[in-house]
Amino acid sequence: MAALRGDCPPVTCALANPPARLRLMSCRAPRPRGGVSDAYRARNTGDPVAKRSAVRFIGMTTTTDTHCPYCSLQCGMRLRTGPEVGAAGAEVLERPGFPVNGGALCGKGRSAPALLARDVRLTGPLLRDRPGGPLRSAGWPEALARVAEGLAGVRERHGADAVGVFGGGGLTNEKAYQLGKFARVVLRTANIDYNGRFCMSSAAAAHRRAFGLDRGLPFPLEDIPHTDCLVLVGANPAETMPPALRYFRELRENGGTLIVVDPRRTRTAAEADLHLQPRPGGDLALALGLLHLVIADGLVDEEFVAARTTGFDRARAAATAHWPDRVERLTGVPVARLREAAALFGRAATGMVLTARGPEQQSKGTDTVGAWIDLCLATGKAGRPRSGYGCLTGQGNGQGGREHGQKADQLPGYRSIEDPVARAHVAGVWGVDPEALPGAGRSAYELLDGLGQPGGVRALLLAGSNPVVSAPNAGHVAGRLRALDLLVVADPVLSETARLADVVLPVTQWAEEDGTTTNLEGRVILRRRALDPPEGVRSELWVLRELAARLGVPDGFPAEAEPVFDELRRASAGGDADYAGISYRRIAAEDGVFWPCPDAAHPGTPRLFLDRFATPDGRARFAGVTHRPAAEEPDRDYPLYLTTGRVLAQYQSGAQTRRVPELNAAAPGPFVELHPRLAARLAVGEGELVSVTSRRGRAVAPARVTDTIRPDTVFMPFHWPGAGRANTLTNPALDPVSRMPEFKLCAVRVERAEGEAS
Ligand code: SF4
Repeated sequence: MAALRGDCPPVTCALANPPARLRLMSCRAPRPRGGVSDAYRARNTGDPVAKRSAVRFIGMTTTTDTHCPYCSLQCGMRLRTGPEVGAAGAEVLERPGFPVNGGALCGKGRSAPALLARDVRLTGPLLRDRPGGPLRSAGWPEALARVAEGLAGVRERHGADAVGVFGGGGLTNEKAYQLGKFARVVLRTANIDYNGRFCMSSAAAAHRRAFGLDRGLPFPLEDIPHTDCLVLVGANPAETMPPALRYFRELRENGGTLIVVDPRRTRTAAEADLHLQPRPGGDLALALGLLHLVIADGLVDEEFVAARTTGFDRARAAATAHWPDRVERLTGVPVARLREAAALFGRAATGMVLTARGPEQQSKGTDTVGAWIDLCLATGKAGRPRSGYGCLTGQGNGQGGREHGQKADQLPGYRSIEDPVARAHVAGVWGVDPEALPGAGRSAYELLDGLGQPGGVRALLLAGSNPVVSAPNAGHVAGRLRALDLLVVADPVLSETARLADVVLPVTQWAEEDGTTTNLEGRVILRRRALDPPEGVRSELWVLRELAARLGVPDGFPAEAEPVFDELRRASAGGDADYAGISYRRIAAEDGVFWPCPDAAHPGTPRLFLDRFATPDGRARFAGVTHRPAAEEPDRDYPLYLTTGRVLAQYQSGAQTRRVPELNAAAPGPFVELHPRLAARLAVGEGELVSVTSRRGRAVAPARVTDTIRPDTVFMPFHWPGAGRANTLTNPALDPVSRMPEFKLCAVRVERAEGEAS
């Protein structure tokens, strides 16, 4: 397989030609030297560069095999750290042997050492003495006492469920596990959820409904080039995970067909053999229209359907109501294009459908993904080699983060918190009475929406998330956060959410700690500590141990990651996401281990469902869903669709990437993408400010005029706070199954914004 190195698309972009110190360097043996650290130099020489970075090193100059801190690809990288290493105290080297990325990294991964520099970090706890007052520096004993007393006080006055925990899909498995245990065992609250609810929850719900098990990809990435036809739905890996492009390019080199479904002609769509450009929210009808044509053209794999599935009659009936002309009216995709796509996918011997946030972040996200799974099942493209449905997860630990207990309805091992057997097993590992475990709590948006309200959470511990930028209806959410009696934020940086906190706890990140994540393939991988954190910084695991002790639970919360992982293995044993046979030693020796892996002798499971699906009868279940409109369709007052997404040089809420100069230079701020016809109608030119107004608020940003977007749709990236915050506008309408908000579309009005600053 040919590896494409430094896989930025061929565009004019600072990242396509990174500064010399960020370029991938060839792997070379470390050059051990005496341990004079930047911290030492800063203290003793006044060296300004050393002062700026001032990271502390474990010892002499060394290299450490680890992984990128950002997205779910979890690219392997080698970090060189030590006193002689540049301004950031660490540099990225190539790690060509790691199979997922083969040494390639995008600009975010290459520039990740900048996150370690002291000047972008929190280096000690911060406290607010009175509402509206300033944050001031504090020591750890004072900060921890304030948090413990605050949490205990709210629990005493308002009950255990008035205390909440909000986690993140970027947290390691160990942190996600320990956060869930802390909520249930120490705080005894049902109210814990996490920002992964905003990312992959619809795909997860559809996956479980169809297959009985949810793992992002049921096959390794290396299978993709060997399928005959791949449909990418609402996914733009050219911007979100560029090194993954090599799999799609190799597919085409092998003679396979790439179909991209996206309202925008993205960089990924530009590489496709066929681009279908439905209006936002049209993906469900589109999938049903393709299923209709597959059935009409006799392309159903009757043998597979009879032997390995249930519920096809319902799916066929649903598809019957979605004839081509109707689907063209619903989606804007011409009938001829529909026929072309149905023939390409239906006639291919093998095929895959991969979804990302486009179809998933909708109030009908679970059904939309279900319809695409139905298309796979009807054509026999699931549970077979080189075929299947998968989800390209988003956050760094988007997969593992949803498996081990930080979800409102879940216990470790992907167990249901409502299942008495699961409760008994996990309670046994935790040494508590199963009856003492709370039940299911509120989903992420519902939890945030209830903050400070009667019956809602009044004290919140938040880690690894920045909802002031990333939550839907973000202005409203920020107001709710301000209404809390106590907000505690654990973060390596002073994010927009941390700025609202009563207590800010500076925590370790990525290269400063050990821990596992699970990438989009279900491959459990190991991040290794490469250097010491700044002096005043502690890990979340340490924080949880200290808080647990202060709240009366002195045992069961180790501060080191590996003992936590060993307990997670026992807690997950026998569950869907069974990690029992995975150890740090094995991960390091085998370039990751795929779950389920029930014992040390088990090889792990790169490919799922080849013999049977994980349902009780072993058969996959058709969803049999029908089209319905979005929660908010354009009307006279709000005549356009808004869709949101990411850009190459920024990541999620931007809390990390907006602190990296090279990334900021490439993507310095928000913008509104609009079609030339719309721009002409509004008399708006390139770079001129426009306002975008929805029923929830108004945002202002410069126009970017391009014919790659539909004339009825505008696009905004969501990485920035302030006037250009896209999530000021987004609709928190929830999917009834996954509780996913409708980030991907809402109705807006766009106008010139003369005389305003963005
Ligand atoms: Fe790889 Fe994603 Fe990191 Fe880029 S951001 S280097 S694609 S893990």
